[in-house]
Amino acid sequence: MTFPRNEAGTLRRSLLAWYRAGRRDLPWRRTRDPYRIWISEIMLQQTTVGAVVPYYRRFVRAFPTVRALAAARLDEVLAAWSGLGYYRRARHLHQAARVVVERHGGRFPRRLEEAMALPGIGRYTAGAVLSIAYSEPLPVVDGNVARVLSRLLLLRGRQSGARRRRLWSAAAELVAGSASPGDSNQALMELGATLCAPRDPACGECPVARRCAARAAGVQGRIPPPRRTRRPVQVRSAVALVSRRGHFLMRRRTDAALLMRGLWEFPAARPGGGDGLRLDLGRPIATVRHSITHRRFRISIHPARLASEPRRGHYRWVSPGELRRLPTSSIVRKILAAVPRAAMRRRPRKPGRPHEPGV
Ligand code: SF4
Repeated sequence: MTFPRNEAGTLRRSLLAWYRAGRRDLPWRRTRDPYRIWISEIMLQQTTVGAVVPYYRRFVRAFPTVRALAAARLDEVLAAWSGLGYYRRARHLHQAARVVVERHGGRFPRRLEEAMALPGIGRYTAGAVLSIAYSEPLPVVDGNVARVLSRLLLLRGRQSGARRRRLWSAAAELVAGSASPGDSNQALMELGATLCAPRDPACGECPVARRCAARAAGVQGRIPPPRRTRRPVQVRSAVALVSRRGHFLMRRRTDAALLMRGLWEFPAARPGGGDGLRLDLGRPIATVRHSITHRRFRISIHPARLASEPRRGHYRWVSPGELRRLPTSSIVRKILAAVPRAAMRRRPRKPGRPHEPGV
Protein backbone atom coordinates (compact mmCIF):
# COMPACT_ATOMS: atom_id res chain seq x y z
CA MET A 1 0.00 0.00 0.00
CA THR A 2 1.32 3.40 -0.97
CA PHE A 3 -1.42 5.57 0.54
CA PRO A 4 -2.51 5.33 4.18
CA ARG A 5 -5.76 3.39 4.76
CA ASN A 6 -8.85 4.96 3.10
CA GLU A 7 -6.72 7.82 1.77
CA ALA A 8 -6.84 6.66 -1.85
CA GLY A 9 -10.67 6.64 -1.87
CA THR A 10 -10.89 10.10 -0.32
CA LEU A 11 -8.39 11.53 -2.76
CA ARG A 12 -10.17 9.96 -5.70
CA ARG A 13 -13.55 11.35 -4.70
CA SER A 14 -12.17 14.87 -4.26
CA LEU A 15 -10.34 14.71 -7.59
CA LEU A 16 -13.38 13.35 -9.43
CA ALA A 17 -15.74 16.00 -8.05
CA TRP A 18 -13.30 18.74 -9.04
CA TYR A 19 -12.70 17.27 -12.49
CA ARG A 20 -16.38 16.84 -13.31
CA ALA A 21 -17.21 20.36 -12.17
CA GLY A 22 -14.64 22.16 -14.30
CA ARG A 23 -12.77 19.96 -16.75
CA ARG A 24 -11.59 21.50 -19.98
CA ASP A 25 -13.85 20.81 -22.92
CA LEU A 26 -11.53 19.00 -25.34
CA PRO A 27 -12.69 17.27 -28.54
CA TRP A 28 -11.42 13.83 -27.50
CA ARG A 29 -13.34 14.10 -24.24
CA ARG A 30 -16.61 14.03 -26.13
CA THR A 31 -16.15 10.45 -27.28
CA ARG A 32 -15.57 6.97 -25.92
CA ASP A 33 -14.33 5.75 -29.29
CA PRO A 34 -11.04 3.98 -28.50
CA TYR A 35 -9.64 4.93 -31.91
CA ARG A 36 -10.12 8.67 -31.32
CA ILE A 37 -8.86 8.50 -27.76
CA TRP A 38 -5.81 6.63 -29.01
CA ILE A 39 -5.14 9.31 -31.66
CA SER A 40 -5.38 12.05 -29.03
CA GLU A 41 -3.06 10.24 -26.62
CA ILE A 42 -0.40 9.74 -29.28
CA MET A 43 -0.64 13.37 -30.42
CA LEU A 44 -0.42 14.65 -26.85
CA GLN A 45 2.93 12.96 -26.26
CA GLN A 46 5.48 15.78 -26.01
CA THR A 47 2.99 18.24 -27.51
CA THR A 48 0.73 20.79 -25.84
CA VAL A 49 -3.05 20.55 -25.85
CA GLY A 50 -3.32 23.87 -27.71
CA ALA A 51 -1.12 22.60 -30.54
CA VAL A 52 -2.88 19.24 -30.72
CA VAL A 53 -6.53 20.36 -30.99
CA PRO A 54 -6.47 21.55 -34.67
CA TYR A 55 -4.33 18.57 -35.73
CA TYR A 56 -6.64 16.15 -33.97
CA ARG A 57 -9.69 17.64 -35.69
CA ARG A 58 -8.09 17.50 -39.13
CA PHE A 59 -6.69 14.02 -38.59
CA VAL A 60 -9.98 12.40 -37.54
CA ARG A 61 -11.72 14.19 -40.39
CA ALA A 62 -9.20 12.72 -42.84
CA PHE A 63 -9.15 9.27 -41.20
CA PRO A 64 -12.42 8.89 -39.29
CA THR A 65 -11.93 5.21 -38.43
CA VAL A 66 -9.07 2.85 -37.79
CA ARG A 67 -9.90 1.12 -41.07
CA ALA A 68 -9.57 4.42 -42.94
CA LEU A 69 -6.20 5.01 -41.32
CA ALA A 70 -5.01 1.48 -42.09
CA ALA A 71 -6.06 1.84 -45.73
CA ALA A 72 -4.29 5.19 -46.17
CA ARG A 73 -0.82 5.56 -47.67
CA LEU A 74 1.95 6.49 -45.23
CA ASP A 75 2.47 9.69 -47.25
CA GLU A 76 -1.07 10.81 -46.54
CA VAL A 77 -0.69 10.10 -42.84
CA LEU A 78 2.61 11.99 -42.65
CA ALA A 79 1.04 14.89 -44.55
CA ALA A 80 -1.77 15.09 -41.99
CA TRP A 81 0.89 15.04 -39.27
CA SER A 82 3.07 17.67 -40.93
CA GLY A 83 4.13 20.33 -38.47
CA LEU A 84 3.25 18.32 -35.35
CA GLY A 85 6.77 16.91 -35.06
CA TYR A 86 8.07 13.57 -33.76
CA TYR A 87 7.05 11.83 -36.98
CA ARG A 88 7.85 8.42 -35.59
CA ARG A 89 4.52 8.68 -33.78
CA ALA A 90 2.65 8.93 -37.09
CA ARG A 91 4.51 5.97 -38.57
CA HIS A 92 3.76 3.84 -35.52
CA LEU A 93 0.15 4.92 -35.54
CA HIS A 94 -0.17 3.86 -39.15
CA GLN A 95 1.53 0.51 -38.56
CA ALA A 96 -0.56 -0.11 -35.45
CA ALA A 97 -3.80 0.70 -37.32
CA ARG A 98 -2.93 -2.05 -39.81
CA VAL A 99 -2.32 -4.51 -36.97
CA VAL A 100 -5.62 -3.55 -35.32
CA VAL A 101 -7.45 -4.22 -38.60
CA GLU A 102 -5.60 -7.43 -39.49
CA ARG A 103 -5.42 -9.06 -36.07
CA HIS A 104 -8.17 -7.48 -34.00
CA GLY A 105 -11.00 -7.09 -36.51
CA GLY A 106 -10.69 -3.29 -36.57
CA ARG A 107 -11.33 -2.89 -32.84
CA PHE A 108 -8.67 -1.53 -30.51
CA PRO A 109 -7.74 -4.52 -28.28
CA ARG A 110 -9.16 -4.51 -24.80
CA ARG A 111 -6.44 -6.54 -23.11
CA LEU A 112 -3.43 -4.66 -21.78
CA GLU A 113 -0.84 -7.06 -23.24
CA GLU A 114 -2.42 -6.90 -26.69
CA ALA A 115 -2.62 -3.11 -26.59
CA MET A 116 1.01 -2.85 -25.48
CA ALA A 117 2.09 -5.15 -28.31
CA LEU A 118 1.00 -2.51 -30.86
CA PRO A 119 3.73 -0.29 -32.34
CA GLY A 120 4.16 2.96 -30.42
CA ILE A 121 2.01 1.97 -27.46
CA GLY A 122 3.55 1.74 -24.01
CA ARG A 123 2.05 1.22 -20.60
CA TYR A 124 0.87 4.81 -20.25
CA THR A 125 -0.96 4.99 -23.61
CA ALA A 126 -2.49 1.54 -23.20
CA GLY A 127 -3.73 2.44 -19.70
CA ALA A 128 -5.16 5.75 -20.91
CA VAL A 129 -7.05 4.26 -23.89
CA LEU A 130 -8.34 1.21 -22.04
CA SER A 131 -9.44 3.12 -18.95
CA ILE A 132 -11.15 5.94 -20.86
CA ALA A 133 -12.71 3.91 -23.69
CA TYR A 134 -13.43 0.60 -21.92
CA SER A 135 -13.47 1.63 -18.23
CA GLU A 136 -10.68 -0.81 -17.42
CA PRO A 137 -9.23 0.04 -13.96
CA LEU A 138 -5.69 0.52 -15.25
CA PRO A 139 -3.34 3.21 -13.95
CA VAL A 140 -1.58 5.89 -15.97
CA VAL A 141 1.60 7.72 -15.08
CA ASP A 142 2.79 10.47 -17.40
CA GLY A 143 4.88 13.50 -16.45
CA ASN A 144 1.89 15.39 -15.04
CA VAL A 145 0.64 12.46 -12.97
CA ALA A 146 4.15 11.75 -11.70
CA ARG A 147 4.47 15.32 -10.47
CA VAL A 148 1.09 15.30 -8.68
CA LEU A 149 1.73 11.93 -7.01
CA SER A 150 5.30 12.86 -6.04
CA ARG A 151 3.92 15.92 -4.27
CA LEU A 152 0.98 14.19 -2.64
CA LEU A 153 3.31 11.51 -1.29
CA LEU A 154 6.34 13.75 -0.76
CA LEU A 155 8.61 11.61 -2.91
CA ARG A 156 11.94 13.35 -2.96
CA GLY A 157 14.84 12.55 -5.21
CA ARG A 158 15.28 12.07 -8.90
CA GLN A 159 13.89 9.46 -11.23
CA SER A 160 14.83 5.90 -10.28
CA GLY A 161 13.40 2.45 -10.76
CA ALA A 162 12.12 2.32 -7.18
CA ARG A 163 10.51 5.72 -7.47
CA ARG A 164 8.84 4.77 -10.75
CA ARG A 165 7.41 1.58 -9.22
CA ARG A 166 6.06 3.59 -6.30
CA LEU A 167 4.35 6.04 -8.67
CA TRP A 168 2.72 3.27 -10.70
CA SER A 169 1.59 1.55 -7.56
CA ALA A 170 0.08 4.78 -6.18
CA ALA A 171 -1.72 5.42 -9.50
CA ALA A 172 -3.02 1.83 -9.44
CA GLU A 173 -4.40 2.30 -5.92
CA LEU A 174 -6.18 5.48 -6.93
CA VAL A 175 -7.89 3.93 -9.95
CA ALA A 176 -8.53 0.47 -8.50
CA GLY A 177 -11.79 1.15 -6.68
CA SER A 178 -13.15 3.72 -9.11
CA ALA A 179 -16.53 3.34 -10.78
CA SER A 180 -15.17 5.59 -13.58
CA PRO A 181 -11.52 4.65 -14.12
CA GLY A 182 -11.24 6.89 -17.19
CA ASP A 183 -12.44 9.96 -15.32
CA SER A 184 -10.27 9.13 -12.29
CA ASN A 185 -7.18 8.96 -14.46
CA GLN A 186 -8.11 12.08 -16.38
CA ALA A 187 -8.74 13.95 -13.11
CA LEU A 188 -5.16 13.24 -12.03
CA MET A 189 -3.80 14.23 -15.45
CA GLU A 190 -5.95 17.38 -15.46
CA LEU A 191 -4.70 18.45 -12.05
CA GLY A 192 -1.10 18.09 -13.23
CA ALA A 193 -1.81 19.91 -16.49
CA THR A 194 -3.61 22.84 -14.89
CA LEU A 195 -3.13 23.62 -11.17
CA CYS A 196 -0.21 21.42 -10.13
CA ALA A 197 2.26 23.13 -12.46
CA PRO A 198 6.00 22.39 -12.30
CA ARG A 199 6.72 25.85 -10.91
CA ASP A 200 4.33 27.81 -8.69
CA PRO A 201 1.51 25.27 -8.33
CA ALA A 202 -1.87 26.87 -7.58
CA CYS A 203 -2.29 25.07 -4.26
CA GLY A 204 -4.91 27.56 -3.07
CA GLU A 205 -7.34 26.17 -5.70
CA CYS A 206 -6.32 22.52 -5.42
CA PRO A 207 -9.04 20.04 -4.45
CA VAL A 208 -6.58 17.82 -2.58
CA ALA A 209 -4.41 20.52 -0.98
CA ARG A 210 -5.24 19.34 2.54
CA ARG A 211 -3.87 15.91 1.74
CA CYS A 212 -0.72 17.05 -0.03
CA ALA A 213 2.39 16.15 1.95
CA ALA A 214 4.67 18.39 -0.11
CA ARG A 215 2.47 21.39 0.49
CA ALA A 216 2.30 20.63 4.22
CA ALA A 217 6.10 20.61 4.26
CA GLY A 218 6.24 23.78 2.14
CA VAL A 219 8.41 22.12 -0.52
CA GLN A 220 5.91 21.67 -3.38
CA GLY A 221 7.95 23.92 -5.69
CA ARG A 222 11.00 21.69 -5.28
CA ILE A 223 9.32 18.35 -5.92
CA PRO A 224 10.15 16.73 -8.22
CA PRO A 225 13.59 18.36 -8.59
CA PRO A 226 13.97 20.19 -11.92
CA ARG A 227 15.47 18.11 -14.71
CA ARG A 228 18.97 18.82 -15.83
CA THR A 229 18.50 20.55 -19.15
CA ARG A 230 20.88 20.08 -22.05
CA ARG A 231 22.78 23.13 -23.14
CA PRO A 232 21.37 24.55 -26.34
CA VAL A 233 23.45 23.86 -29.44
CA GLN A 234 23.41 26.49 -32.19
CA VAL A 235 23.20 25.06 -35.70
CA ARG A 236 23.55 27.18 -38.84
CA SER A 237 22.27 25.85 -42.09
CA ALA A 238 21.02 27.08 -45.44
CA VAL A 239 18.41 26.04 -47.96
CA ALA A 240 18.00 26.82 -51.65
CA LEU A 241 14.83 28.27 -53.07
CA VAL A 242 14.71 27.12 -56.67
CA SER A 243 11.51 28.14 -58.42
CA ARG A 244 10.21 27.52 -61.88
CA ARG A 245 6.85 28.69 -63.17
CA GLY A 246 5.41 29.02 -59.67
CA HIS A 247 6.74 25.67 -58.52
CA PHE A 248 9.55 24.95 -56.05
CA LEU A 249 12.14 22.28 -56.32
CA MET A 250 11.72 19.97 -53.34
CA ARG A 251 13.75 17.03 -52.19
CA ARG A 252 12.49 13.96 -50.44
CA ARG A 253 14.45 12.83 -47.39
CA THR A 254 15.72 9.32 -47.60
CA ASP A 255 17.77 9.21 -44.37
CA ALA A 256 18.55 5.87 -42.90
CA ALA A 257 17.29 7.16 -39.55
CA LEU A 258 13.51 7.11 -39.37
CA LEU A 259 13.10 10.50 -37.78
CA MET A 260 12.39 12.58 -40.90
CA ARG A 261 12.46 9.96 -43.62
CA GLY A 262 9.86 10.52 -46.32
CA LEU A 263 9.37 14.22 -45.55
CA TRP A 264 9.85 16.82 -48.30
CA GLU A 265 12.25 19.71 -47.79
CA PHE A 266 13.99 22.49 -49.69
CA PRO A 267 17.36 21.38 -51.10
CA ALA A 268 20.49 22.23 -49.14
CA ALA A 269 22.12 25.47 -50.31
CA ARG A 270 25.53 24.33 -51.50
CA PRO A 271 26.81 24.75 -55.03
CA GLY A 272 27.61 21.12 -55.52
CA GLY A 273 24.66 19.79 -53.51
CA GLY A 274 24.14 16.13 -52.74
CA ASP A 275 22.29 13.76 -55.05
CA GLY A 276 24.09 15.26 -58.06
CA LEU A 277 22.25 18.60 -57.77
CA ARG A 278 24.32 21.61 -58.89
CA LEU A 279 23.18 25.11 -57.98
CA ASP A 280 24.07 28.75 -58.59
CA LEU A 281 23.30 30.34 -55.25
CA GLY A 282 22.22 33.91 -54.59
CA ARG A 283 22.60 35.94 -51.44
CA PRO A 284 20.26 35.03 -48.58
CA ILE A 285 16.89 36.78 -48.71
CA ALA A 286 15.58 35.74 -45.30
CA THR A 287 16.45 33.76 -42.21
CA VAL A 288 14.24 31.57 -40.05
CA ARG A 289 14.84 30.18 -36.60
CA HIS A 290 13.62 26.85 -35.39
CA SER A 291 14.23 24.70 -32.32
CA ILE A 292 14.21 20.93 -32.13
CA THR A 293 14.79 19.77 -28.56
CA HIS A 294 18.08 21.43 -27.52
CA ARG A 295 19.17 22.37 -31.06
CA ARG A 296 18.59 25.94 -32.21
CA PHE A 297 18.61 26.19 -35.98
CA ARG A 298 19.30 29.40 -37.86
CA ILE A 299 18.45 28.74 -41.47
CA SER A 300 19.25 31.18 -44.24
CA ILE A 301 17.24 31.03 -47.44
CA HIS A 302 19.04 31.50 -50.75
CA PRO A 303 17.36 31.97 -54.11
CA ALA A 304 19.12 29.62 -56.50
CA ARG A 305 19.26 28.58 -60.13
CA LEU A 306 19.85 25.10 -61.37
CA ALA A 307 23.23 24.54 -62.95
CA SER A 308 22.13 21.07 -63.99
CA GLU A 309 18.84 19.21 -63.94
CA PRO A 310 18.17 17.30 -60.72
CA ARG A 311 18.24 13.55 -60.65
CA ARG A 312 14.80 12.07 -60.99
CA GLY A 313 13.32 10.31 -58.02
CA HIS A 314 14.66 12.42 -55.18
CA TYR A 315 13.43 15.76 -56.50
CA ARG A 316 10.12 17.14 -57.61
CA TRP A 317 8.62 20.46 -58.71
CA VAL A 318 5.84 21.34 -56.32
CA SER A 319 3.36 24.23 -56.26
CA PRO A 320 2.78 25.97 -52.89
CA GLY A 321 -0.75 24.50 -52.77
CA GLU A 322 0.56 21.00 -53.40
CA LEU A 323 3.26 21.51 -50.82
CA ARG A 324 0.60 21.87 -48.14
CA ARG A 325 -0.65 18.38 -48.98
CA LEU A 326 2.79 16.74 -48.89
CA PRO A 327 4.49 15.52 -45.73
CA THR A 328 6.80 18.30 -44.56
CA SER A 329 8.22 19.46 -41.27
CA SER A 330 7.20 22.79 -39.79
CA ILE A 331 10.55 24.20 -40.97
CA VAL A 332 9.27 24.13 -44.56
CA ARG A 333 6.16 26.09 -43.54
CA LYS A 334 8.28 28.62 -41.70
CA ILE A 335 10.48 29.04 -44.76
CA LEU A 336 7.48 29.52 -47.04
CA ALA A 337 6.03 32.09 -44.66
CA ALA A 338 9.34 33.96 -44.44
CA VAL A 339 9.91 34.31 -48.16
CA PRO A 340 8.36 37.37 -49.80
CA ARG A 341 6.31 36.54 -52.90
CA ALA A 342 8.49 38.60 -55.20
CA ALA A 343 11.56 36.72 -54.05
CA MET A 344 10.03 33.45 -55.17
CA ARG A 345 10.25 34.65 -58.75
CA ARG A 346 13.56 36.50 -58.43
CA ARG A 347 16.67 35.11 -60.06
CA PRO A 348 19.80 34.88 -57.93
CA ARG A 349 22.09 37.89 -58.39
CA LYS A 350 25.46 36.56 -57.35
CA PRO A 351 26.83 33.18 -56.58
CA GLY A 352 27.01 32.64 -52.83
CA ARG A 353 29.47 30.89 -50.63
CA PRO A 354 29.06 27.21 -49.86
CA HIS A 355 26.98 26.47 -46.79
CA GLU A 356 26.18 23.62 -44.48
CA PRO A 357 23.63 21.12 -45.75
CA GLY A 358 20.01 22.05 -45.18
CA VAL A 359 17.99 20.60 -42.34
S1 SF4 B 1 -1.58 21.10 -3.09
FE1 SF4 B 1 -0.34 22.07 -4.63
S2 SF4 B 1 1.44 20.77 -4.86
FE2 SF4 B 1 -0.12 19.58 -3.77
S3 SF4 B 1 -1.19 18.47 -5.38
FE3 SF4 B 1 -2.33 20.35 -5.03
S4 SF4 B 1 -1.50 21.82 -6.54
FE4 SF4 B 1 -0.08 20.11 -6.38
